[in-house]
Amino acid sequence: MRAEAPLLEVNGLKKHFPIHGGVLGLETAKVYAVDGVSFSINRGETLSLVGESGCGKSTVGKAILRLYPITGGEVYLAGDRIDTLSAGQLRPLRRRVQVVFQDPFSSLNPRMKVRDILAEPLVNFGIVRGGRELTKRVEELMAKVQLPRDAINRYPHEFSGGQRQRIGIARALAPGADLIICDEAVSALDVSVKAQIINLLVDLQDEFGMALLFISHDLAVVEHLTHRVAVMYLGKIVELADRRTLFATSHHPYTRALLSAVPVPDPTAKRQRVILTGDVPSPINPPSGCRFHTRCPFVFDRCRVEEPLLRPVGEGHVSACHLEHVPGGQVVPIAA
Ligand code: SF4
Repeated sequence: MRAEAPLLEVNGLKKHFPIHGGVLGLETAKVYAVDGVSFSINRGETLSLVGESGCGKSTVGKAILRLYPITGGEVYLAGDRIDTLSAGQLRPLRRRVQVVFQDPFSSLNPRMKVRDILAEPLVNFGIVRGGRELTKRVEELMAKVQLPRDAINRYPHEFSGGQRQRIGIARALAPGADLIICDEAVSALDVSVKAQIINLLVDLQDEFGMALLFISHDLAVVEHLTHRVAVMYLGKIVELADRRTLFATSHHPYTRALLSAVPVPDPTAKRQRVILTGDVPSPINPPSGCRFHTRCPFVFDRCRVEEPLLRPVGEGHVSACHLEHVPGGQVVPIAA
């Protein structure tokens, strides 16, 4: 293990899904769902992975969880490489990395009571054997996520969406995970319930110190819980910065377009809305050069042929764009 390693380190992650066709079922194309993504998360930190539907952000989460093999790149947990582990070696990883999915109803067994849903990871990972201690741990978990005591003998269908998500969070907390991947975990909830769940996650992180990889299509949702934000477009990270920098001085035109849709709390403040035209191109045949060039309001010739690499544009702030911002709010091409 390397000293001072981040909790999670993802280097050049690729996940390409083959498409098979014809009578022989031969591979005819590939979906370039994730195409060279790198980032790290420190202990106790929240990194949000944000982008439109189909940008590959959920695939990144599932690849880290080893729900399918990756095409390329490396994934490290606390300095230990985990993408090459065999099925048998994955068991300790399952305890340390947990997930909360968007739809708690489909991820909770409808035939299990809350008691059994929360007891399962405690027993499976050998944390508690059973008896009174198990009941006590289940009750403690329920209290941590603010579920009423009488919920213990109820089934998932007896709860609201927000309460079901609390059960999902308690289940993720049960094994004492170092990292919880929240995959669109609040997307299906009403605005007020969404805020309650976000506040709960912030409180739990303060208490237990776990890191969060928060995957969301909505920048507004992550603003109040994240430490850093990585913006994804068509399988690649196009900008990464700490929250304050990204929301105040974003660099990439795609990030600026996403931010322009985020409501501003002050009704007198004006934010110019950037409407992106066209749909996200297909990840089967991504555009040449900059993948965003088919929708970018600033596109120029170089964008169509040369892929912009992530480059530093500030302290801890990287962006993949051929433009430079200059005083006066102007943008000019950077030197080739
Ligand atoms: Fe737009 Fe060109 Fe920058 Fe891509 S590289 S975001 S197309 S200006």
